[in-house]
Amino acid sequence: MDPNVPNHCPGTNSSSAGQVSACQGCPNQKICASGLTQAPDPALEVLKHRLSSVKHKILILSGKGGVGKSTFTSLLARVLACENEQQNVGVLDVDICGPSLPIVFGVQDEKVHQSGSGWSPVFVEENLSVMSVGFLLDDRDDAVIWRGPKKNAMIKQFLTEVDWGETLDYLIVDTPPGTSDEHLSLAQFLKSTENFSAIVVTTPQEVALLDVRKELDFAKKVGLPILGVVENMSVFVCPKCKVTSEIFPKNTGGAAQMSLEMNVPFLGSVPLDPSLGKCCDEGINFLQRYSKSPTIMAIKHIVENVKRSLKQVEPMVF
Ligand code: ADP
Repeated sequence: MDPNVPNHCPGTNSSSAGQVSACQGCPNQKICASGLTQAPDPALEVLKHRLSSVKHKILILSGKGGVGKSTFTSLLARVLACENEQQNVGVLDVDICGPSLPIVFGVQDEKVHQSGSGWSPVFVEENLSVMSVGFLLDDRDDAVIWRGPKKNAMIKQFLTEVDWGETLDYLIVDTPPGTSDEHLSLAQFLKSTENFSAIVVTTPQEVALLDVRKELDFAKKVGLPILGVVENMSVFVCPKCKVTSEIFPKNTGGAAQMSLEMNVPFLGSVPLDPSLGKCCDEGINFLQRYSKSPTIMAIKHIVENVKRSLKQVEPMVF
């Protein structure tokens, strides 16, 4: 299927009589009539081959922006890379309009290089590499104003042309918030491979959880297995007096209650920790700088739950 032609096209989903009217005036009419869109996309074979050495592909999703999706992506990658030097971790930032991972990993001045085997990602550690549209921009303040097909083409290029090395134990994909073209493309492309799943990050407020329910429904519709839900900025523990406060009240029971209702695993909570926010802004490795902090303990606990969930969800072939 050509990802440039939306698969939610009303024409392809209607009866022949309905299809005639639905297709009238559509600029893709000629392509559809030629049967080209029904043929398998040749890029899928390339993608399958390219990602065949990746053991686990994990998409990080969120209903809303600003809930800590990129922060959690970086923490998960850092913990997995740090706990075992033999383990290779790759991070793909497909938050095309707001790529923040180069800054969070402190590699914003790096550029990706093209070689005979594809694009080489930027290495943060020997076993941790990152690829982001942020590396391709001339100026980090440049806005990326692309329509869906161009974004899809970029995602396809990322999935087919990045050379992650001989083996990658984890490929963690930071996605834009919500359920947009990029998510559909990712789901369509990754469906041709094995072992892919997703984690949803949220904050505890009901308005955020409302969007998570939509995200979970989207995952169900596109056949994307959910490893679980992470609640970020759950509580604030004052570094001076150690009193715990709920900055964002869990009026409806927070992410734990919602996970129970939606029948998905709850992976754990990350506290609101100003030193974590500061480290992300400055590209400092939080794990190393605050190795004994309760926030690190909470994150490590979540990573253990992620690994447990992975064993239950995979191997899965669609
Ligand atoms: P998203 O990717 O969902 O848009 P980010 O990960 O970019 O969100 O986080 C938004 C802001 O909140 C960033 O400045 C980040 O450093 C900060 N932040 C995220 N999680 C925490 C946390 N647990 N404690 C403190 N600051 C956080």
